[in-house]
Amino acid sequence: MKLLEERISKDGVVKKGNVLKVDSFLNHQLDIKLYNEMGKEFKRLFADKNITKILTIEASGIGIAAITAQYFDVPVVFAKKSQSINLDGSTYNTKIQSFTHNRVYDVIVSKKYLSSDDHVLIIDDFLANGCAVNGLIEIIESSGASIEGIGIAIEKGFQDGGKSLRERGYQVESLAIVESMNDETGEIIFRH
Ligand code: 5GP
Repeated sequence: MKLLEERISKDGVVKKGNVLKVDSFLNHQLDIKLYNEMGKEFKRLFADKNITKILTIEASGIGIAAITAQYFDVPVVFAKKSQSINLDGSTYNTKIQSFTHNRVYDVIVSKKYLSSDDHVLIIDDFLANGCAVNGLIEIIESSGASIEGIGIAIEKGFQDGGKSLRERGYQVESLAIVESMNDETGEIIFRH
């Protein structure tokens, strides 16, 4: 998506450790016009799918998922990072290794909001090694719902997450794929 690539080139900051900072429009301050265009594009890319729910993970996925959901006219459920796993059986649970915070989170979704009747579109801001998306897939599989696709704002194509998800047969649509980035020069190259 040209608009997103242009914005990343203009305002993205390449940090050490393969981290791309996009705080000025995606992760801290949110450019809602841009979000709106991203939502529209996800709708176009998954137009043939019968989607009943969008699943994302807090915090950065929520804004993108919420705006995208308006185009699909479905609810958004976000997986919560929890201090303690609920042992009463009322939640689906998994563990997710955070790329940016270098720690493992317990993540939960209430069984009330995801069932075997659902057809789910996963949405997230970044795809790197795939830990976040794989955790969401595990949760969906526990619920018996079907996975219709995975929509990502920014995929870092030089990390393995996207490749392995596509090899497993998932439809992964990333609005911008970073082929390489250099923390010394600040240069960002996109894959087309
Ligand atoms: P993964 O789980 O695929 O390794 O990483 C994806 C998650 O880590 C996303 O939910 C995102 O919040 C965070 N993340 C991974 N790489 C980056 C990055 O380069 N920049 C930012 N801002 N977040 C990232």
